[in-house]
Amino acid sequence: MDQSSVPQQDTGFKRLPCLYCGEAYEPGDHARHTEPVHCGPCITCVDKPACFSCRLMYCVCDVHKYRG
Ligand SMILES: [Zn+2]
Ligand SMILES: [Zn+2]
Ligand SMILES: [Zn+2]
Repeated sequence: MDQSSVPQQDTGFKRLPCLYCGEAYEPGDHARHTEPVHCGPCITCVDKPACFSCRLMYCVCDVHKYRG
């Protein structure tokens, strides 16, 4: 009987953590975190948004290559 756990429906923009990088992004950054990038031969990160970091050692993508 915990009524406080009922999710509230609010109409404003909710900042949800990104599925790929875990950042709670601003509305202006929406594209970077949701728009798929058709990057190339690396099957691990193809069609992932630009914010995604590919951990694959051999990744050749400019967008997704993990910069440690
Ligand atoms: Zn992201
Ligand atoms: Zn990639
Ligand atoms: Zn990759």
